[in-house]
Amino acid sequence: MSNFNSADIAAFKDVWVFCEQREGKLMPTDFELISKGRDLADELGVNLCGLLLGGEGIESAAKELGGYGADKVLVCESPLLAVYNTDAYAKVICDVIEDLKPEAFLIGATNIGRDLGPRCAARLHTGLCADCTHLDVDVANYIQFLRESSTLDVDSQKWDMEDRNLKMTRPAFGGHLMATIICPRFRPCMATVRPGVMKKNVFDQAKADACEIVKPSFQLSESDLNTEVVEVVKAAKKLVDLIGADYIVSVGRGISKDVEGGIKLAEELADVLGGVVGGSRATIDSGWLSADHQVGQTGKTVHPKVYIALGISGAIQHKAGMQDSECIIAVNKNDTAPIFEIADYGICGDLFKVTPMLIEAIKAA
Ligand code: FAD
Repeated sequence: MSNFNSADIAAFKDVWVFCEQREGKLMPTDFELISKGRDLADELGVNLCGLLLGGEGIESAAKELGGYGADKVLVCESPLLAVYNTDAYAKVICDVIEDLKPEAFLIGATNIGRDLGPRCAARLHTGLCADCTHLDVDVANYIQFLRESSTLDVDSQKWDMEDRNLKMTRPAFGGHLMATIICPRFRPCMATVRPGVMKKNVFDQAKADACEIVKPSFQLSESDLNTEVVEVVKAAKKLVDLIGADYIVSVGRGISKDVEGGIKLAEELADVLGGVVGGSRATIDSGWLSADHQVGQTGKTVHPKVYIALGISGAIQHKAGMQDSECIIAVNKNDTAPIFEIADYGICGDLFKVTPMLIEAIKAA
């Protein structure tokens, strides 16, 4: 294990995506990451593999990943993998990675991914860039850099695989700057990627049919597990699906003079649009909305058709989660609020007066 990363970097090939499933059902992040992984694999000229772990019978879900771009899916089945367990998953993933040596390994920055990613990176003695919002490949920039800065006849060179790196970008310093990080000396390059930021490809049945299913060998026994999952308790209430919503009405601290009334107005507006309610961190920290409603850098990244911000100032950390919405409508009583800088339509006024008018206008339309 300790010599794993002193191996020749060029021996590492392919882009892999860890795909999460619950009871055999794939998660939305899987499709986003497979789609992004497809672009990266094409740029690197390698294969894209999904890595799917679970109990018996998950193979049927694997083909679906092919429809979004996976060339192959590595399926690891064991009763010990039926429910997520950090020890079991990390053991199997690291075994398979040591065996087959992917060049890049992407994991969703979900609760499971945030637990699994650092553990696998530490075991594999490689780096991990957490919570990425952008990924691309460095070869072109590296060559461009040499073209501009050196006397070398760059275009006559045959470029070595070691010159290429995954460029991983993530917010840093509380979202005030974006840091681009590379992992030049260790493989695989590992990244966890925020759900909702990568665009999903259109499903292609022919590609799904062509996708190869491979069952890699691995060893896993009860003795590899330090913890036991005693019970899985499902959330009592259904969480709000911000990432999949086409219409989001978000509220901010601007509702503070009548929190209940403000949330009720947002719900009514969301209802007439067929959308859902979100919130700024101020509303979550104040206990007005539950954490699954939070939009922003430490909440969800969304890109709905329409995002309506009611009484939200537009702090950089909030904008980081919603600025790619197709249409942004902001209601704020302060005409200098930063949210207006990115709004397609801005209404300067009291949300308690403006929102009922919006609801009536939409109902009448
Ligand atoms: P405020 O900034 O207080 O704005 C309230 C707005 O409401 C004001 O613009 C005011 O003019 C307006 N208003 C007041 N009354 C009315 C009315 N009656 N009608 C109309 N307008 C009215 N924030 C997030 O949202 N998401 C994140 O994920 C997130 N992550 C963070 C991560 C870090 C590391 C840090 C440091 C901060 C993070 N924040 C996040 C917090 C962020 O910096 C802001 O504090 C927060 O977004 C402010 O929320 P707000 O806009 O609701 O409140």
